[in-house]
Amino acid sequence: MYRLLEKGDEEPVASLLTGKVSSGMTRRLPSTVVSDLAEIVGHEHVITDPDCLLVYESDGLTAYRRPPRAVVLPSSTEEISAVVGLLHSNGIEVIPRGAGTGLSGGALATPEGVIVGTARMNRILKIDVENRIAIAQPGVINARLTEATNPYGLYYAPDPSSQSACTLGGNVAENSGGPHCLKYGVTARYVTGLTVVLAGGRIVELGGVGRDPYTTLDLVGLFVGSEGCFGIATEIELRLLPITEGVRTLLGIFESVESAGRAVTKIIASGLMPAAVEIVDGPTIEAVEASVFAAGYPLEAGAALVIEFDGTDAGLDLDADRAEQCCLEEGAIEVQRATDPEHRTKLWRARKKAFGAMGRIAPDLLVQDATVPRTKLPEVLAGIDDIGNRYGLKIANVFHAGDGNLHPNILFDRQNQNELELVERASKEIMQLCVDAGGTITGEHGVGVDKRQYMTLVHGPAELEAMAAAKRVFDPDSLFNPGKVLPAVEVKGATDTAKILAIGE
Ligand SMILES: Cc1cc2nc3c(=O)[nH]c(=O)nc-3n(C[C@H](O)[C@H](O)[C@H](O)COP(=O)(O)OP(=O)(O)OC[C@H]3O[C@@H](n4cnc5c(N)ncnc54)[C@H](O)[C@@H]3O)c2cc1C
Repeated sequence: MYRLLEKGDEEPVASLLTGKVSSGMTRRLPSTVVSDLAEIVGHEHVITDPDCLLVYESDGLTAYRRPPRAVVLPSSTEEISAVVGLLHSNGIEVIPRGAGTGLSGGALATPEGVIVGTARMNRILKIDVENRIAIAQPGVINARLTEATNPYGLYYAPDPSSQSACTLGGNVAENSGGPHCLKYGVTARYVTGLTVVLAGGRIVELGGVGRDPYTTLDLVGLFVGSEGCFGIATEIELRLLPITEGVRTLLGIFESVESAGRAVTKIIASGLMPAAVEIVDGPTIEAVEASVFAAGYPLEAGAALVIEFDGTDAGLDLDADRAEQCCLEEGAIEVQRATDPEHRTKLWRARKKAFGAMGRIAPDLLVQDATVPRTKLPEVLAGIDDIGNRYGLKIANVFHAGDGNLHPNILFDRQNQNELELVERASKEIMQLCVDAGGTITGEHGVGVDKRQYMTLVHGPAELEAMAAAKRVFDPDSLFNPGKVLPAVEVKGATDTAKILAIGE
């Protein structure tokens, strides 16, 4: 029904094979536009110096790089509206950006684009304890919200492993998850209202406390996960939760990642509801134990399973006993239990610091992201191991096992052209393996620029057309983050709606 456009049919996007975009693609902004932008946000908040723009040439997926034409850093909804209005009236594309920790190239600049960053919009505007709601600007760092609400006995549940750096705006755009989202759900469950700047600078209010977004058309739900392609969230209203009374943390040590995977299935199938179930595999343990983050995990372990229960204190010990039994039945070598908060932090350390520690193994890292049904974890992990062996690539796995959300981390050296090609081929095979197992191409890191090419593995033309149509409702001229999410596909006998997919923007 449709084919992916060939390389060259569309504007070239950086690929792992090239590691960078061709030079000379980024055009300078007209000086009148620069001075008009400076008029709105102040001269010091418009960045056009080529050296300074290099800071913004990629997000956390550094295999794709392109410096933007400029970066603008507004401080309010009104400034964002004026900036977007000005850029769009000049036909200039806008790429929203939070902290740039994204792992799918979502905040990568387009050749004609200007990045609008939210770094200065970092204020928590309201904490409403009675209604358990907070209103924050999009540049607030995720972990800051929990820090600010803890004194009121509240916290913000979605906890991406990057939570000490990533922003709430980025979390909304990616519908981010995290270790504790197994029990508590991902970002979408917590966003109750949004102020959004749309194409041309229009400001709209979506949802909001007291206005149940689920009894009318759920535009909040549609916006969450739109990866910066619909508009810019400028104020975010979020649900808070009461801090739980008790917590129990266990660490299961296994000979193989497959047996750890089987233990996960057994724990969930037994009816237990852990807050988090995370796997760290052998290569990751080696890297962490050799680093400053060493957590005392046995080096001979093939995998470690971090399991956490929280809630009312009564009953938690029983849950922990049952989970320990599941681990032992699946061949755990030992199961440790945290005895105090410091011990808990130590048991979590290898999981939390895994990405940082991998720098010891190889200079470059591609963090893949896919989901599979939990029961398929053992066979898919074995398949990933096989792919790594066939391509001679080291793949370390650290992931949200309870959700079946895999993160195979492919380690490589970008200076080695041959290795880059192998990484790209291995990534593709991993995606296919997960889709064949009944899973999908992303669990939480989004599609961005990296996964566009895999969208047709899981979505047919009708679904892709519906997504393109939704984008046009918010952004009719495709001036927000073009070239992301929707693949460049040509649909046979294309209708008008389908033709939009031919340019993917
Ligand atoms: C070490 C590490 C661990 C990670 N762990 C997790 C994890 O456990 N779970 C998880 O889900 N992710 C994880 N991530 C990925 C990343 O942190 C998340 O996707 C995060 O939500 C991105 O936030 P950001 O502020 O960095 O956004 P950016 O990277 O700046 O942008 C991400 C996307 O959001 C858009 N965007 C940003 N702000 C706005 C806005 N205000 N309005 C509209 N669109 C906007 C951008 O255009 C882009 O498409 C991890 C990343 C790293 C580096």
